[in-house]
Amino acid sequence: MSGERNAFQKDYQKNDEKERAKIVNMEKEQTQKWSGNREETQRCGGNKEEKGESIRLEMDSQSKNEEFARVVVAVFMSRMNPTLEEIDDVKTAVSEAVTNAVIHGYQNRDGIVYIEARICGSELTVTVRDQGVGIPDLKKAMEPMYTSDATGERSGMGFSFMEAFMDKLEVESQLGKGTTVRMKKRIGG
Ligand code: ATP
Ligand code: MG
Repeated sequence: MSGERNAFQKDYQKNDEKERAKIVNMEKEQTQKWSGNREETQRCGGNKEEKGESIRLEMDSQSKNEEFARVVVAVFMSRMNPTLEEIDDVKTAVSEAVTNAVIHGYQNRDGIVYIEARICGSELTVTVRDQGVGIPDLKKAMEPMYTSDATGERSGMGFSFMEAFMDKLEVESQLGKGTTVRMKKRIGG
């Protein structure tokens, strides 16, 4: 009886070990995948030598949260030793992009605004993304003084400010899917 039991236990332990080895292996692979991804995202524009730094922020789409996004990006970029003017430029651009996401993207309904800021050497990249209505005619939307707003409250200068205060502005938008605004600025000359 006890012999049978021992055999059973041995079998069980063997299986158990196999199972454990499998799990350990899976964990190892997963960890490699994750750290691989992490390195991928931290790399500067494909440059293997230079590692970047980044932060991500997700917030409810509410006008009152706009200030929070602006301040978080300003604090993050302060490690680049920016001038006060550079900080103000970035804050204005972030503010315009986030306001657009809240007002136009989500049309003041519930949603999440995603903000990412990344430093690569002396270059700051800020990405503001929404999963809102999207922009039907991007070329027209980016023209100075174009606004779809009919209340007369908006001047249609948001994109122009982003362009003026940052070095580079890229906008991608898909109807019904959302809008991504990517802005770059070289800090410190
Ligand atoms: P202002 O920024 O001066 O208050 P505005 O927001 O209308 O006015 P822009 O920021 O230049 O001007 O945007 C132009 C237009 O592009 C908007 O009126 C809107 O139609 C469209 N738009 C901008 N951002 C988004 C977005 N995230 N989702 C959907 N539509 C957008
Ligand atoms: Mg705007």
